[in-house]
Amino acid sequence: MTASALQLARVTHRYAGAERDALSDVTLDAAPGELLAIVGASGSGKTTALRLVAGYERPDAGAILLDGADVTRLPPERRGCGMVFQHYALFPHLSVEENVAFGLEARGVARAERRTRAQRALEAVGLAGTGARRVQALSGGEQQRVALARALVIEPRVLLLDEPLSNLDPTLRVATRDELRALLHRERVTALFVTHDQEDAFAVADRVALLQAGRLLQVGTPETLYDRPASRAVAAFIGRGALVPATLANGTDAAPDVTITLGGVAQRAAARMADGLADGRAHRVLAVLRPEQLALASDAADAAWPGRVTSRRFAGGTTVHQVALDGGVTVQVASADRGVREGDTVRVRLAAAQVAVVGADT
Ligand code: ADP
Ligand code: MG
Repeated sequence: MTASALQLARVTHRYAGAERDALSDVTLDAAPGELLAIVGASGSGKTTALRLVAGYERPDAGAILLDGADVTRLPPERRGCGMVFQHYALFPHLSVEENVAFGLEARGVARAERRTRAQRALEAVGLAGTGARRVQALSGGEQQRVALARALVIEPRVLLLDEPLSNLDPTLRVATRDELRALLHRERVTALFVTHDQEDAFAVADRVALLQAGRLLQVGTPETLYDRPASRAVAAFIGRGALVPATLANGTDAAPDVTITLGGVAQRAAARMADGLADGRAHRVLAVLRPEQLALASDAADAAWPGRVTSRRFAGGTTVHQVALDGGVTVQVASADRGVREGDTVRVRLAAAQVAVVGADT
């Protein structure tokens, strides 16, 4: 087995004078060439994790390993991490090429080679031919790419990106994140990508780590976090899902059925669970009902939960209806039906064959 390109091994960090750990016993790894996202709300410890990897902070406990070597005690300049920040921190008085080559000069690379490497990095980010321009003359998206080129030019062992898309407008952000993923995979860069935006994390990363208040809640592919959340907190953070009391029964041991009874109507699906929860099938559980798994029932005779539409939001291909179900649960239902209005009495059918389930006490 090849060594992980990056490992955080039981890393804990508390800032001087702080009341709680900014990062608490976090273990994570990224394989060579892997794009790992850290996602979490503001203050969850994402930037702290990056700063620990880069060497700007020392952990109170635990270790940081790059390519299998313990770098916990090494200063930043001996770790070889490239950084891209939310505010690109470019030098406004320098040209694009000088900005990109800056880190090479500090590393003692000769002038001719600096030029060649800077030009190659600019090519890689789609900015060939812009080297002589002033950075202020570039658009926000282009400046973001200059910052990326500047980080890539040193051929970092790991690229660290802290909210790199936050300053871009929505259209540019979507285009940029697709390019970013393609570029990093093409260049086989190992990257740790930090964002508060789960959509960005899902779009860019191979795997996603979810942090909450300094603790790692779950790490896995975007599909794993969405389909098999490990806990109630993960289910509440990832996607738009209503958490609804349910019971597990029948089915097979690995995949019991989940039954959700609301307003006197029971609906059932196969349960999808994180590893380990199946053992707790006697426990109380919560079903995670997502908008695309629910439908407005066309026929009152269908076994479907009764409720009332409290609001609707047109979302292009579908309209998302918020429905207050009898039994006190509010769900969101995606439907192509545009004729349903606020205040309408409706029935909501469970349209998915499988539904994610989390332990009620997790
Ligand atoms: P995120 O990047 O996810 O928003 P941070 O890693 O910046 O979170 O912060 C995690 C926690 O550490 C927060 O509670 C924050 O207030 C605290 N914190 C961050 N930087 C410092 C600092 N330099 N000194 C003291 N506390 C800090
Ligand atoms: Mg941050």
